Amino acid sequence: MIGADKIIQKKKEFLFPSSHGNHFYKNPPQIVKGDMQYLYDDQGKEYIDFFAGVSVMNCGHCNKEILDVAISQMQTLQHTTIIYLTEQMVNLAEKLATVLPGNLRRSFFCCTGSEANEGAMLLARLYTGKNDFIALHNGLHGRTHLTMSATAIPMWRADPDLSRCIHFAKNVYSDTLDLESAAKASIESIKQVIEEQGAENIAALIAEPIQGNGGIITPPLWYFKELKALLEQHDILLLIDEVQTGFARTGKMFAIENYGVVPDIMTVAKALGNGMPISAFCTNDEIAKAFTKPSASTLGGNPVSSATAMAVLDYIEKNNLCERSEYLGAILKQKLELLKEKHPIIKEVRGLGLMLGAELVKANGEAASEETDLILEKLKDRGLIVGKNGLGRNVLAFQPPLVITEENIEVLIQNLDDVLSEL
Ligand code: PMP
Repeated sequence: MIGADKIIQKKKEFLFPSSHGNHFYKNPPQIVKGDMQYLYDDQGKEYIDFFAGVSVMNCGHCNKEILDVAISQMQTLQHTTIIYLTEQMVNLAEKLATVLPGNLRRSFFCCTGSEANEGAMLLARLYTGKNDFIALHNGLHGRTHLTMSATAIPMWRADPDLSRCIHFAKNVYSDTLDLESAAKASIESIKQVIEEQGAENIAALIAEPIQGNGGIITPPLWYFKELKALLEQHDILLLIDEVQTGFARTGKMFAIENYGVVPDIMTVAKALGNGMPISAFCTNDEIAKAFTKPSASTLGGNPVSSATAMAVLDYIEKNNLCERSEYLGAILKQKLELLKEKHPIIKEVRGLGLMLGAELVKANGEAASEETDLILEKLKDRGLIVGKNGLGRNVLAFQPPLVITEENIEVLIQNLDDVLSEL
C-alpha cells in the first residue's frame, strides 16, 4: 500500500489538474477494502459508508453473491458483444424488461452514465426528427459533449463550446418559494421555453427524477404527471435519467415510479453493475424502431458486466432492497428531521428512500459550504463516510449501500448530532 500522501503526489504528477480536488477531504484516506456497508483504509480503520460512491454500490461492497457470478463469468468468457453471439447481454435485457416501468422493454447497453444519456438523446432525435432539448437547472447528465451541454451545474461544464441546442428551464428548487410554488414555477418556465423555442424544434426534455449532484432536489409527487401531460401536448419526449436514482435507491426500483409516470426513454448506469461498468438507455417498441443504423459499443453489455448486472437484479429482488430502502429511508429521514429541530444550520431535509439530503445554511441564509466540509471531515475521522452535493456544496448526502442496518443509522445520527453540536 502506497499511502494517501503518495497517491496525492502521483495524482498531481500523472493525472490532470481537473482530477486533483474531487475528493471531499483535507486528509483523504486511502480506501483499500470494502465489505458490504463497510470500507477500510490502509491503517485498518473501519468506516460505515453512507454514500456508496454516489449511489453505485447499492448491493454493498464486494457482495459475495454478486462477485461469485462476476468471477465465474470472468473465468469463462470475457468478450465484446458484437460480431459473435453471446447470451449474457440478451438475458439481461430480457430481465431488465421485467423491471422497467410500463412499456419500456428495449435496452441498448454501454459502459457509463454519460454514454447512456448521449445515446438516449441521439435516440430522441432519431425518433422525433427534432434537434433541441430542454434541461433543468441543477441537473447533471454527464461528461460527453451533449450531456455536458445538458448539465446545468457550472463546475461540471468545462467545454468552452457547449452545444446551443439545450435550453434550460427552472427546476423545483427556489431560495424564496416553497416546494409547491417552485414546482409550479418550474412547469411555467418549461412552458415558456417551449413557446420561445417552438415545440417543433424540441425532441425531448431530459431530467433526473430526483436531482443528485444538484442537491437531492425532490419534486412533489404530482410534478412529473403534469410535466408528462404538457410534453405530450407538444410531442416532446420525456427522457428520465435514472443514473443516480435507479435500482431500489428511492424505495422503488426506479425513482420515477414514485411519480406514477412512464417516461419515453430512460437511462440507467451506476448501481446496475454494483461497481462493474455497465449502463443502458431503454425505451418502448415504437421509439426503438427509429434506431436502425448499425451501432454498438465494444464493451457495452459485455458478458462479465451483463452477468454481474443480472446478479445485481437477482440480489435486489431476493433481498427486497426496494422495501428495505423505503423502510430504512423513512427511519433515517425522521431522525434527520429531529436533528433539524435541534440544529438550525439544517435548513431542510429532503429525498425519498435512501437518497436523502440535508441542506446546511448559515444564520444569514448563505450556503454553509465550509461547515459542510468540516462536518464531512469530522464524520470521516469518526468512521463515517457521508457525501455532499448542491450548487453551494452545502447539502449533506446520504446514499448508503441499501444493506445498511438500523444500528448503522443510529451510529450516524449520534455522531452527526455530536459533530453539529461541536460546530
Ligand atoms: N447522470 C447522473 C444523474 C449522474 O449522477 C451522473 C454521474 N454522477 C451521470 C449522469 C454521468 O455518469 P458517468 O459518470 O457514469 O458517466
